[in-house]
Formats: sequence, structure tokens, C-alpha cells
Amino acid sequence: MAVAMDEGRLRARMAEVMKAMDARGLNRGTSGNLSARCGEAMLVTPSGVPPERLTGDQMVLVQPDGSTAAGALKPSSEWRMHQQILNRRPDANAVVHCHSRHATILACAGREIPSMHYMVAVGGGSSVPVAPYATFGSAELAEAVVEALDGRAAALMANHGQIVVARNLDAGLAIAEEIEEQAAIYWGTLAIGGPKLLSEDEMNVILTRFRSYGQKA
Ligand SMILES: [Zn+2]
Repeated sequence: MAVAMDEGRLRARMAEVMKAMDARGLNRGTSGNLSARCGEAMLVTPSGVPPERLTGDQMVLVQPDGSTAAGALKPSSEWRMHQQILNRRPDANAVVHCHSRHATILACAGREIPSMHYMVAVGGGSSVPVAPYATFGSAELAEAVVEALDGRAAALMANHGQIVVARNLDAGLAIAEEIEEQAAIYWGTLAIGGPKLLSEDEMNVILTRFRSYGQKA
């Protein structure tokens, strides 16, 4: 695992990644959120602060027991989901969540992204599954998302959006952007009769290749 960034740099990078999500059209308003592992605790974006006004010092350090420092902003309403994912995924250090348009269209239709393009494999599987719906901010949603991810890097969240887990914030941003692109492509294919799928064998070749790229990087 790469050397962890110190807390100050991590905070600053979180603000930059939130702005980048906005600039790349992955997010609208205050709906997206991020977290990053920080020792035993996690840093999470605050609730209700628009990305253009976000600064590193506004990120909320949430302890394993859910407590925050006196005077800290309120963490994102999805903090439990972030915490549960980081707890259950020791391979990951960052979680990216957004309501990007095409991923959310598919999530609202309850459609997973099938193996219709080799880049679907950036999600860590031959498809990008849909986690069942549960109320935002609930422990049930956290559990549903962890189960749907099942070792993968990305999942859609029914009637909600998309979620990505990654080794760091930048990788998470890149994966979320690619999942949105794949969702848009799949959505487009549905207008012309649906995609022609790649075989499970071919997807396994791609997944193996992506894993070895990851090790070199
Ligand atoms: Zn959300």
C-alpha cells in the first residue's frame, strides 16, 4: 500500500476532488460526497457545503465510534455508508459517491451495466451491479452497498447514484468518471436495440490485465 498522505494534504485533496467532480459534470449541487481513511479514523466531506466553497479545514474527521471534534461541521448524511465501506474494505483508502446523470438513470431503472465494453472492468468485475434501495443515510443502505460491491471497485445504488471504492481519492475520481461514461454508453446502446455483450472469458482477460496495470502504477 502506498504511503498515506498526511491529514492536511488529504483534506486539501478532498476539496480539490470535490471541485473536480463538479467541473467534470459528475455532480450537481451538494449531492456528492467523499471519504478518505485517516489512520483509525476517516475524513468525510461536510453536509450541505457547495463544492466551490469547500476548503480542506471543513472536512470532518469521524472517529471509529462516530464522534467528531467539538466545532466540526456536520459530516455528510452518508457518513455511515463511507465508514462501513472503509471498515469492510481494508484494500481501499477512499470512497467516492455521486449522482452522476447516466449512472443515476440506470440506477433508477434498476439496470446494472453489463459486459458491453471492456472498460466496464474498471469497476472491478464483468458488470457494475445495482445495490438494492434503502433510505439515504441509513445503516441498511450502508449494508446493501457493501454487499453489492463484494470486492469490486464500483456499484450503482438503486434510485440514487453510484459508489466507488479505491486505493486513493484520485483513483476513485477516475473510476467514477469512467463508470459515468460507461453508463452513458450503455444508455445509448439501449436506444438502438441494446449492446452486444463481451463474453465472461474475455472480461476475465481484461480484469487480469487491469489488475497487473494497477500493480505497476
Ligand atoms: Zn447520494
